Amino acid sequence: MRIVLLGAPGAGKGTQCKRLLAAYTLVHLSSGDILRQERSEGSDLGKKAQGYMDSGGLVPDELIVEMMVKAIEDLATDGFVLDGFPRTVNQGAELDAALAASGKALDVVLNLEVRDDVIYDRMSGRRSCPKCGAVYHLISLKPQVEGICDHDGEGLIQRRDDQLEVVEKRMETYHQQTKPVVEYYQNSAVRVFDVQANGDAETVHAEIREILARMSDSQTV
Ligand SMILES: [Zn+2]
Repeated sequence: MRIVLLGAPGAGKGTQCKRLLAAYTLVHLSSGDILRQERSEGSDLGKKAQGYMDSGGLVPDELIVEMMVKAIEDLATDGFVLDGFPRTVNQGAELDAALAASGKALDVVLNLEVRDDVIYDRMSGRRSCPKCGAVYHLISLKPQVEGICDHDGEGLIQRRDDQLEVVEKRMETYHQQTKPVVEYYQNSAVRVFDVQANGDAETVHAEIREILARMSDSQTV
């Protein structure tokens, strides 16, 4: 199964991705990880990307897509999940064209839908341990002692990414750039399922499994 997982920051993509990997034979492909790997290996693509980054620019869509397609073609298995990629309609269109050419077109897009107010609550209440990275929540996942990490007694902090102004900025970027990606797929041959993701991770995972089960029933592969 070739899956794309989309959703706003704080929609639970990372959590759902982990659960998918535990339940199915899938490889997780993250554009950030692949970019880092290509650079550290000093591959041709990595060097090109490094050049853009050294001059303070963004790595162009075509280059990112080329890396992703190469990673997909190199996979030993046929199943993968893309998490938070493509980020723009342009990346999506480039990816589709390249995958169609290599006979590995996407099967399904899972769009995690979470209300904006739920996202703000989730992210603004998040507290992290700077020492071990454990994540807590002021209301839904409290540490045993307020403000203190259960594992190592370190004082908890609010990461910059979770601060209100930063969350607002990330949501704005999401609405501008990534939401059109969902619309792009809705008008493409790839099947898109909206997953109500306001609830807890277990419920969301169960809904995803149900969608995937229905899909494999209707497929001959
Ligand atoms: Zn800790």
